[in-house]
Amino acid sequence: MADRKYKRVLLKISGEGLCRKGGFGIDGEQLDKIAGELKSVVETGVQLALVVGGGNFIRGNELAEQSHIPRATGHYMGMLGTVINALAVQETLERFGLETRVQSAIAVDRVCEKFIRRRAIRHLEKNRVVILAGGTGNPFVTTDSCAALRGTELAVDIVMKATKVDGVYSADPETSPGAEFYPKLTYNEVIDRRLKIMDLSAIDLCQQSNLPILVFKLGTPGNMLKAIQGRQVGTLISAK
Ligand code: UDP
Repeated sequence: MADRKYKRVLLKISGEGLCRKGGFGIDGEQLDKIAGELKSVVETGVQLALVVGGGNFIRGNELAEQSHIPRATGHYMGMLGTVINALAVQETLERFGLETRVQSAIAVDRVCEKFIRRRAIRHLEKNRVVILAGGTGNPFVTTDSCAALRGTELAVDIVMKATKVDGVYSADPETSPGAEFYPKLTYNEVIDRRLKIMDLSAIDLCQQSNLPILVFKLGTPGNMLKAIQGRQVGTLISAK
């Protein structure tokens, strides 16, 4: 087993990561790429929980703005989108030889387990990848808040947030090429500088739980494995 810095990790993957750039739905090649990266990580013996987003299908706020659908309903629809993604991720990881369980915060008994904290921990201890679907089960928040919440209750060592860019910059590097890259930030710097990395409630909970957050690009081969081994990748957000 390769050396690793962390025993238990929660990785948040956005729905965008599961489809082609700017796309909608699910793309098989993207799923395979992610599964390849995660396989090498799980082989280190690290316990891995995944929170999957649903933005490749529906974001409640956007849907409500563009239609007659009330925000609350839009958010529930978004949460159901995360269940679809979780099933796609599960099938892909299992094709790569990993053992998995999907647990959802919204009961969908025919297709997955309900989220039960102690059972999720038991799965992790048996080195099953636990895929957390349905967000928090509550509307008006996003899966970033879910990552902070589940990360805290599952007592992970770090929350890793996969993004399209290498980490946190002073501005969007895709539209502002001169933007400054931050290898390290404190929770307070993220809040004071209004850096749009995660919902404020997610940052706040991680700060209260003293749970570090790593923002990094999962799309660069080997990046997550490096991070698990404690090598410099992305931006680390912590108390100091
Ligand atoms: N959502 C929600 N409660 C949660 C998590 C998600 O209401 O606890 C809804 C919300 O509408 C959100 C959508 O599900 O926009 C999809 O999740 P998210 O936007 O986090 O997906 P991502 O952008 O990470 O793909």
